[in-house]
Amino acid sequence: MSDLRVRFAPSPTGFLHIGGARTALFNYLLAKKEQGTFVLRIEDTDVERSTQESVDAILQAMDWLGLSYDEGPIYQSDRYELYKSKVSALLDQGLAYRCYCTTEELNAKREAAMKIGGKPRYDGTCRERTDQPDLPYVVRFKTPRDGNTAFVDRIKGTITVENDELDDLIIQRTDGNPTYNFVVVIDDAEMGINLVIRGDDHVNNTVRQIPMYKALGYEVPEFAHVPMILGADKKRLSKRHGATSVMVYREMGFLPEAMVNYLVRLGWSCGDEEIFSMDDLIAKFSLDNVGRSAGVFNPDKLLWLNEHYIKTGDPERLGGLVAEQLEGQGVDVSDGPEMAAVVQTLQDRVKTLVEMAEGARFYFEAPVSYDEAAAAKFLTEEKRVVLELLIKYLGATVSFTLEDVEGAFKAMMEESGLKLGKIGPTVRVALTGGTVSPSIYEVVSVLGKATVLARLQKALASLV
Ligand code: GLU
Repeated sequence: MSDLRVRFAPSPTGFLHIGGARTALFNYLLAKKEQGTFVLRIEDTDVERSTQESVDAILQAMDWLGLSYDEGPIYQSDRYELYKSKVSALLDQGLAYRCYCTTEELNAKREAAMKIGGKPRYDGTCRERTDQPDLPYVVRFKTPRDGNTAFVDRIKGTITVENDELDDLIIQRTDGNPTYNFVVVIDDAEMGINLVIRGDDHVNNTVRQIPMYKALGYEVPEFAHVPMILGADKKRLSKRHGATSVMVYREMGFLPEAMVNYLVRLGWSCGDEEIFSMDDLIAKFSLDNVGRSAGVFNPDKLLWLNEHYIKTGDPERLGGLVAEQLEGQGVDVSDGPEMAAVVQTLQDRVKTLVEMAEGARFYFEAPVSYDEAAAAKFLTEEKRVVLELLIKYLGATVSFTLEDVEGAFKAMMEESGLKLGKIGPTVRVALTGGTVSPSIYEVVSVLGKATVLARLQKALASLV
């Protein structure tokens, strides 16, 4: 165990998106690699927008990706007493103050400041105020005016801002609720987080949070801000570029290992390598190889990785996943062929589990009707002899191993003089309903004798 403590701190205001999942993954990998601790904290202080549904969706997505955490989930909504006590402490020490300015006043001040080319910042009217009128107020943090705030980001290097650029942030709203920038400091400090890895959209928050760590007497953690993810057009990743929710990719038939492999490469590299299992990543991941430029989302690459993991996946496991898909579509797979055998016939032919389920369907459901064009060509009266011979030869075959099936076809071809080109399409339409399927020997072997003979008989009865 090392003393590294990292965290993922999603706001439950929606699904887990690609960027959040990558942040979670980087935290997870580093914690695993360094045998540190990965904490999950749910940042639900925005009461209006936070929902249990989103919490569930985020937890489910992390589970799917295999990102297990060592502590948590810890909910900020359970910690209001702590936050309140910290507000009081800062007020008592004169490091925060009550601000009674109304929204109208603040808007007017902001506009006036902008008119003369100033920053739209709070002007500090209530900063030195000592009276406590019986009026609604917010509590603001008294950001130091002199000097600067600097930190060495593990990815971006040194970042410095002059303190007079910083605003006196609101740390407690009129309704008494604390704000994000304040509670995140308290939580990271109280939870002993010593490295904060998050998206670089938070850099501006970090320079505001550092003075608060100091005011609260906490040690400032290290920070690593991960560059954002862009679409191919170099604009910030959004729905225009494809699905941004991780779980939508699951629905589209992606495997979690493909997603993990894809996410890690959106910002991290290891020479020219492209394929990484979770174990490889845990061994190899380091912040040193996280790039400084934005990652570009490329759905084709994700598809390529998925194809790779489908090709090389364990048929038993993929079988379970395909069975789930088929059952979801109302297909009864309970007395069909072995799912793992079905998967093996399809692994080289598909890129997603959805395609695999589509391709597997005929194994479990006899064709209700035949593809019209295919039947007009391959299930005609003149094919009767082909079907009859097949029934004869396959009927005499005891075991339906691939070798035996191939043997039966060969014997039939030799003795009848028919070529595979004449037989294949007819068998395929009879057994699958269409003209596209895995190799015909594999299909016959996996379907098994009883099903094959039944479907051939049915095709015979429906010749046109
Ligand atoms: N809750 C914040 C968000 O979802 C993240 C806060 C953080 O990582 O510090 O954007």
